[in-house]
Amino acid sequence: MAAQTVASASTDSAFGPASALSCRECGERFPLEPLFACEACFGPLEVAYDLPSGDPETLRKRIESGPNNIWRYAPLLPVPADVASKPNLNPGFTKLVKADNLARELGVTGGLHIKDDSGNPTHSFKDRVVAIALEAARTFGLTTLSCSSTGNLAGAVGAAAARAGFRSCVFIPHDLEEGKVVMAAVYGGELVGIEGTYDDVNRFCSELIGDPIGEGWGFVNVNLRPYYGEGSKTLAYEICEQLGWRLPDNIVIPIASGSQLTKIDKGLRELIELGLVEEKPYRIYGAQAEGCSPVSTAFKAGHDVVRPQKPNTIAKSLAIGNPADGPYVLDIARRTGGAVEDVTDEQVVDAIKLLARTEGIFAETAGGVTVGVLRKLIESGQLDPAGETVVLNTGDGLKTLDAVAPTSRPTATIRPSLDAFRAAGLAG
Ligand SMILES: *Cc1c(COP(=O)(O)O)cnc(C)c1O
Repeated sequence: MAAQTVASASTDSAFGPASALSCRECGERFPLEPLFACEACFGPLEVAYDLPSGDPETLRKRIESGPNNIWRYAPLLPVPADVASKPNLNPGFTKLVKADNLARELGVTGGLHIKDDSGNPTHSFKDRVVAIALEAARTFGLTTLSCSSTGNLAGAVGAAAARAGFRSCVFIPHDLEEGKVVMAAVYGGELVGIEGTYDDVNRFCSELIGDPIGEGWGFVNVNLRPYYGEGSKTLAYEICEQLGWRLPDNIVIPIASGSQLTKIDKGLRELIELGLVEEKPYRIYGAQAEGCSPVSTAFKAGHDVVRPQKPNTIAKSLAIGNPADGPYVLDIARRTGGAVEDVTDEQVVDAIKLLARTEGIFAETAGGVTVGVLRKLIESGQLDPAGETVVLNTGDGLKTLDAVAPTSRPTATIRPSLDAFRAAGLAG
């Protein structure tokens, strides 16, 4: 049954160059539908492509003349060619900041860049993945957009649904940061707090999908997960294009479910395959908070399987105790010669302040995790500071104010007089 539908799917322009869903475990192929698990072996499905063939220079020019958002990469994504004309938040093409001050502080000599995804429409990287899932939902005729979220995804789904005219109903753990809760609610969709961890929320959503209640619902990170994941490839494309169509030597990426990290690797491999960048070795590093570090624990122990943990960290956007893509992250870190490392909450806070102090970028806790892990990787000799390094900041510090509020207070509070200012010892 699958084989016949696959043949027709390859001519279906609603998914652009995508040709099928394929199982990452057994390679079985399925039509482009709202499917996420292989019917043969239950492995996760991912989007397979007939990528454009021909002259890389022509493709590069076509991309460069596209819009300043992720749709410039439409020829490499499972979206229709006219995607840019549809109502969408048009995320992406965020800044790649050359971070010379931070490089000096950390001893990076080969060039250090921050890929700053706080500049997306809802101030986190999640707008990228939601944009692709939303196009799939539109094509499938789904009417309610939903997700299980560690915080940022809920806001991204709420906003994208509002703009595109979908109903939304999103689910979060009940104890998220105020900034995340407000961002998830303000766009007017349904927001449900679940008494439990993210992993409980996710299990609940899987039940909803199997129930008649869930008919017509697109859970961006569950039944639309193969499409959702592809949005993260755009980070790889942008980093390389912004470096002048070159691969960096090292990339430091935060891990929640691990989807983003695995798809950045997929994007880099596509660019090599297409001849858009020259092939050379690159190392992928994963970053976790110690209070939720199932993947780094497995990496350090040399295990292939990831044992679930109960999260307890201020880095709530990364607090997934049972990460779906954990084993694939381990493969990629080992294959590329990278590593997976973790930092304490105290180191997360220090790193947020270090990045703010050196580069004027205020990151959410996930950005504190990547910058803190970068520091630890250099100090422990796991990352070569002579290599060109890109570190991701995936969210905005205004969403996690509590992390730094206690230690970020006015230097002094004084009467409005010069005497008082002098008395405070701040006259220079
Ligand atoms: C969701 C999220 C990530 C990464 O999530 P994955 O599930 O690993 O793809 C990273 N940073 C922030 C801020 C996020 O919200």
